[in-house]
Amino acid sequence: MEYLLSVDLGGTNILIALAKRKGEIVRLQQFPTGAAAGPESVWHNLLAGLEEVLCREGIPWHKLAGLGVCAAGFFDYYTRSIISSPNLPGWENISLEERLKEKLCLPVLTENDANAAAFGEFIFGAGRGKRNMVNVTLGTGIGGGIIIDGKIYRGSGGFAGEIGHIPVLPEGPLCGCGRRGCLESLSSGSAIARAGRAAIAEGEQTILKKVIQNSGGITASHVFEAARKGDAVSVKIIERANYYLGRAFATIVNILNPSLITLGGGMARAGETIFTPVRLHLKEAAIRPSGEMVEVVPAILGEEAGVRGMLALLEQHLLQN
Ligand SMILES: [Zn+2]
Repeated sequence: MEYLLSVDLGGTNILIALAKRKGEIVRLQQFPTGAAAGPESVWHNLLAGLEEVLCREGIPWHKLAGLGVCAAGFFDYYTRSIISSPNLPGWENISLEERLKEKLCLPVLTENDANAAAFGEFIFGAGRGKRNMVNVTLGTGIGGGIIIDGKIYRGSGGFAGEIGHIPVLPEGPLCGCGRRGCLESLSSGSAIARAGRAAIAEGEQTILKKVIQNSGGITASHVFEAARKGDAVSVKIIERANYYLGRAFATIVNILNPSLITLGGGMARAGETIFTPVRLHLKEAAIRPSGEMVEVVPAILGEEAGVRGMLALLEQHLLQN
């Protein structure tokens, strides 16, 4: 029996899956990334995590057919390196793939985490049976992956699918990428939390004031919770975030004409508070035939989307090489 290892290297956690070749996951385990201590420390944590997963299942290294790793950040698919990553400080032009191949003497495949998650949803999740779909991850930031004719669409440099950086509001708020008015600066979890803090600072009447007194800070979930209780300021913040998300989805739909958009990530758990208005704003702004054809549904693989996508990509890679 041969096995595969699959890793989702995130800013907070490293999720590792050990799976039977063409079979199910036998172990799924999470380790802290320790990103703040820099790339060498992350490298150490990753190798130690791989060792531990194999050791606990009693699988020796020589039983492994390959390793797949997806990571957060701008990933150059053609040079196989992480150009930079807002969530992994110090990671600049790092070829994780070369380094892992040298260290482990195994076939290694690396990928951007959003592409891996999209491929996971396409093969195992809400996108099964579709040919053209887009997966959007709505959390602290906004990530995206595009599947066209059953393949990840990468663009000329490998940077396609940066849905969070669709410019939706001219001269809007400053985004983490350095530009203004990106979708991420208006509809992400951090944008919603920031809008909540700004409302308090501007002296608006909101129950978020109490939240800040009790918990010391405002998160997106606080704003969603306050909106559910009828807080007008919070309702307005959520409505605005949903409006821009729907408009950005219309842009995607007009360009790509997908049959499906899957929406996952921590914030998507808010359910119909997001889905109903986003579908409405999408339909208002998209051209009619594409807008009527596309479904917007919850992604179903949750945090496992990336490691599952990497397992499928690794199987394909091993067959072709
Ligand atoms: Zn941006």
